[in-house]
Amino acid sequence: MIQFDKVNKWYGDLHVLKDIDFHVGAGDVTVVCGPSGSGKSTLIRCINRLEPIDSGSIVVDGMAVHDPKTNLTRLRTEVGFVFQQFNLYPHMTVLDNITLAPKKVRKTGDKESREIAMELLAKVGIHDKADAYPSQLSGGQQQRVAIARGLAMKPRIMLFDEPTSALDPEMINEVLEVMMNLAREGMTMVVVTHEMGFAREVGSEVVFMDNGVVVETNTPEAFFTNPENERTQLFLSKIL
Ligand code: ADP
Ligand code: MG
Repeated sequence: MIQFDKVNKWYGDLHVLKDIDFHVGAGDVTVVCGPSGSGKSTLIRCINRLEPIDSGSIVVDGMAVHDPKTNLTRLRTEVGFVFQQFNLYPHMTVLDNITLAPKKVRKTGDKESREIAMELLAKVGIHDKADAYPSQLSGGQQQRVAIARGLAMKPRIMLFDEPTSALDPEMINEVLEVMMNLAREGMTMVVVTHEMGFAREVGSEVVFMDNGVVVETNTPEAFFTNPENERTQLFLSKIL
C-alpha cells in the first residue's frame, strides 16, 4: 500500500530523510518511533504530500505521490491524517467538522453524510457530542472526533502523528482503544507513537528512526526483546 524507494529530503542544509526505504502492506499497522527530531513527522507527512521530497519515490496504493499529474484530492481522500494537535475547525460543530469533507469532496448529500457522521461518532464513543463545539470537549474527545473526521472519507490508509502526545494521561487510553479497534478491523495504519503497549498489542512492524535514517525495522516482539541496533537499545532503555 505504501512504498518508499530511496527517499531523500532536505530542509535547507538539513538532510532530514536519508535514503529512506519503507514499506507498508495492506492491513499492516506500522509503528514509527525514535528520538525527537529524527524525522518521523516529516516521513509520515510525505505520504500524503504534505511535504515535497528531493529524490526517490513514494507510491501509495498505486499513486506516485509526488508526480505532479497525481490527483492530490484523490490521494488525500484515500489517506486520512490525524495530527497531534487534533486540528479541528474551532468555529464548527463536531457534526460539521466530520461532514465537511464528504460533502465537499465526495459530494455526499446532507442526510447521508449526517448518518455516516453519527455512525462514526458512535464508533468512537461520543454519539452525544454531535452538536458540541471542539472547545466544549476534552482533548481525548477532540482527538476521537478527529479520527471520526478522517474515517468519514472512507480512507484506505490512516496516518497518525503522535495522536496521544498532547493528551492528559487519563485520556490516552480512550484514544488508543479507538485506534486498536480500527487496527483489528484491518485498516492499514502508520502510527508515530511512543506508546509501546499499542505497538506490542496491534503493531505488525516497528520502525525505529534516528537522525533521518531508518535504523531498524522489526516485529514488535523482536524489537522489544532483542533489538538489533545499539541506537535502538539506547532509545528503549530511555523510554521503557
Ligand atoms: P520528529 O517528528 O521525529 O520529531 P521532524 O520530522 O518533525 O522530527 O523534524 C526532523 C528535523 O527537521 C528536525 O531537526 C526539525 O527541526 C527539522 N524540521 C522539521 N520541519 C521543518 C521545517 N518546516 N523547516 C525546517 N526544518 C524543519
Ligand atoms: Mg514529530
